[in-house]
Amino acid sequence: MLSGIGQARAKQLARLSIHDVGDLLTYVPRTYDVYHTLPTLRKIHEAKQYTHVRLQGTIVRASVSRSRSKAYLAIERLTIADKTDTVPAVSFMPVRPRGRLPKPRYQVGEKVVLRGKINKYNGVPTLLDPERDEKSLAPHAELVVPRYGLTQGISQHMMQKFVATAWEYVTQAGLHKALQRKNNAEFAAMLTVNSVQSHHTCQALYVLHYPQNPAEIDMARRVLAWFELLNLQQRTGLVARGPGIPSPWAEQDGDKTERMLHNVPFQLTGAQQRVIAELRADMARQHGMRRVLCGDVGSGKSVIIAYALLKAVDAGGQGVLIAPTRILANQHAITMQRFFQGLNVNVALLTAQTPPDERKTIEEQITAGEVDVLIATHIGFSEGLKYHNLLVGVIDEQHRFGIDQRIALQQKNPYHTLWVSATPIPKTMAQIAYGGVPLSFLDERPPGRQKVETRCLLPHQRADVYGFLDKEVGRGGRAFVVCPFIDADEADIEGPAAVQTFTKLQNMKPGGRDVALIHGRLTPKEQEDAMQSFVQGKVGTLVATSMVEVGVDVPEATLMVIDGAEHFGLAQLHQLRGRVGRGDKKSYALFISDVPTDLAKQRLEALRSTYDGFALAEEDLKLRGPGEFSGMRQSGVADLQFADIVQHQDLFAKAAQMQNERWGTTPHT
Ligand code: ADP
Ligand code: MG
Repeated sequence: MLSGIGQARAKQLARLSIHDVGDLLTYVPRTYDVYHTLPTLRKIHEAKQYTHVRLQGTIVRASVSRSRSKAYLAIERLTIADKTDTVPAVSFMPVRPRGRLPKPRYQVGEKVVLRGKINKYNGVPTLLDPERDEKSLAPHAELVVPRYGLTQGISQHMMQKFVATAWEYVTQAGLHKALQRKNNAEFAAMLTVNSVQSHHTCQALYVLHYPQNPAEIDMARRVLAWFELLNLQQRTGLVARGPGIPSPWAEQDGDKTERMLHNVPFQLTGAQQRVIAELRADMARQHGMRRVLCGDVGSGKSVIIAYALLKAVDAGGQGVLIAPTRILANQHAITMQRFFQGLNVNVALLTAQTPPDERKTIEEQITAGEVDVLIATHIGFSEGLKYHNLLVGVIDEQHRFGIDQRIALQQKNPYHTLWVSATPIPKTMAQIAYGGVPLSFLDERPPGRQKVETRCLLPHQRADVYGFLDKEVGRGGRAFVVCPFIDADEADIEGPAAVQTFTKLQNMKPGGRDVALIHGRLTPKEQEDAMQSFVQGKVGTLVATSMVEVGVDVPEATLMVIDGAEHFGLAQLHQLRGRVGRGDKKSYALFISDVPTDLAKQRLEALRSTYDGFALAEEDLKLRGPGEFSGMRQSGVADLQFADIVQHQDLFAKAAQMQNERWGTTPHT
């Protein structure tokens, strides 16, 4: 679909998730350089360090020489003059150490318009790396130059050209055609609403690629953010309405539900009791329940899920629990069986790994109503699967599913739906982000759980960390070692990688025990084997990527090492840390991080000193501040590219209000 782009280029672009014209159009610049036009050269003294300027004058001196200290660098020096002043300019160019120097690009006497960055050497403003500017120089005008996110092999200039080509295609074929494709369904939906919206979307996108001034950028973002929110609200609205017929059960819990709550081997926390009461009341109402359960890792969501599923069984129907990964589905199957012990509940597990004939049998049992509770990956809402009497649908880690998949579950028509999220985002934000769907918060940690001792270390202390790992595993503990990357032998990778770390640790044998490796590129079977050998204690250390972030429950795990912590978001680090300290033994999280900035340092400090995921989310927001936080997408709450919870708070509130007026859902407060 991208004409004029060769295979190699296409591969490079694919690394940026750019596969076709539509992807290019929505690949908006990451930042912009704003060039202020200097009416006269003397004005350069008012320009601040590192700002971008455009200026006009005559070249009065031009030379190219070799750098005295670096043989592979050539330096081009220019002097530009007008009636008011002279300005020096410097460019650095790579050259071969003994090769010829390039010719000067400018002639003395030539009239030029140049743009570049101000760098003050000893207080003298110099134009750094000037570029020739072809556009005529309107006084006071600002020039905004987009800067795209790049990958190896793709330069800024190339990207600008690709984008320009994409817009040419739009002129010929129309935006609609350019953006209509499967993997951008969300965006395509924004265009199909009506022609006015489609027109505005098109214009706003164009402005983001070719803004005339900085104010336009914010305006265009607001337009796109608003459409995005409208779209989200409408689509959430589609699934937010219950069936509107009387609930098949009354306010009291049934026999199995009651016995399960009675048998739970712990005292429910206040938050768990409150949330169960919320569910109980909700499920007894005339409209089917639509609810989001927000709870930090380890807050005890499983018992709530078990409760919701059992309500269905007590009412003579079925419950389904959908998890985003096989590992998580397996884990849930074990946990739920434990909760359902002695209650005569028929539980089935369906994942991509289930053998075909077994899958067929299970599907028949589901259709016949012989299975009470199904635990499954997305197979649970595959089209061919027919439920007998689906009363309750629960989606764990719901943000990992697209809204289309959530709608697919709705089409199975569960009477009540519970979306579960472990993503710690500020409460106020969650209320807006979920578009008026009522929320339940599990905001209390079960008692007796100790805090995981958290330390931040520098890369040169890695040997100490390994020493500690050796001791901890030697003592009978189990350890995760998480790396941000899979394989360091790939281009573009600078940071700790799982494959290499695994080799290193396998040679070292921490605690005299074997090491297993798990990452997304292994086959499902290999992943399963690695996970199982860790769960069963056949190995003492599991080297992994962030795929162990969710749901993995290994009570014997006491040490979480995260190498290259600066590559992870705060919420992600918190989730990873939640993988340990689940048993009764003292547990540790060690973050190895090259801390280049104060911000990174502050974030790690917040993590060290704060254990409440929601508080941490607020902190993260404060630290990053408006503009830095593109938030929703990173935290995975909603797939929003333009709407920013900080910058567009008013739009979020407005959208939520509209949602309430329209669907009559009242958010939990
Ligand atoms: P989540 O799914 O929210 O991360 P889980 O439901 O898996 O958390 O619970 C984490 C651990 O805490 C489990 O081992 C569970 O048995 C235990 N747990 C849950 N609720 C309580 C409670 N009220 N008191 C003591 N332990 C609890
Ligand atoms: Mg869980």
